[in-house]
Amino acid sequence: MNSEKLLKQLHGLKTVFNDKESELTALDREIGDGDHGVNMKRGFNAVNEKVSEGSTQEILKQTGMTLMSSIGGASGPLYGFSFVKMSDAANDEIDASNLIEMLEIFSKTVAEKGKVEGGEKTMYDVISKSADVLRETGALEMDDVQKLAEETKDMVATKGRAAYFKEKSKGTIDPGAQSAVYIIHALGEGVKNG
Ligand code: ADP
Ligand code: MG
Repeated sequence: MNSEKLLKQLHGLKTVFNDKESELTALDREIGDGDHGVNMKRGFNAVNEKVSEGSTQEILKQTGMTLMSSIGGASGPLYGFSFVKMSDAANDEIDASNLIEMLEIFSKTVAEKGKVEGGEKTMYDVISKSADVLRETGALEMDDVQKLAEETKDMVATKGRAAYFKEKSKGTIDPGAQSAVYIIHALGEGVKNG
């Protein structure tokens, strides 16, 4: 995936998050404040508008800065800072093994910034296992990544707004875990055919 392809994948997330707004809103209404759909939509609409050129590293960095300033909520700084950090690891041509390195940084950044670990019912549960999926299957197929989000359904939230719901947070997929599926899938599609 060169810079052009990376830009195409990130711009494509505008359509994805426009389509998935109501799904993410519904999840965040169950175990949060109902703004995750509109947050992600606003974030990737802004990326589409503001990020239009540069090297892979510059594109990732600008995407991170744009997400940080446009998403708001807990997810904004987590996604935003992660893209900025991933820019340091990206090669000019991002292949599967480089994407594995980037996903490991994504995971480490969310862990540090969110002070989160696995099993706390957050986006981290998807992000932290995505490098292994790519390593083991050679791709980031939607079904395989979606499975990681489904695993958050039975978890009890201990971080973010969902933590206020305690046991009642069980039975709903974490909204951030679901949005992470779309971001990771889009990056995976980018490295599929070179
Ligand atoms: P807010 O919770 O401020 O309304 P969003 O609704 O946009 O923000 O994002 C909620 C998502 O953010 C959650 O579903 C969860 O995945 C993620 N999240 C919240 N706090 C943390 C944290 N400390 N670590 C990792 N992820 C978190
Ligand atoms: Mg919310």
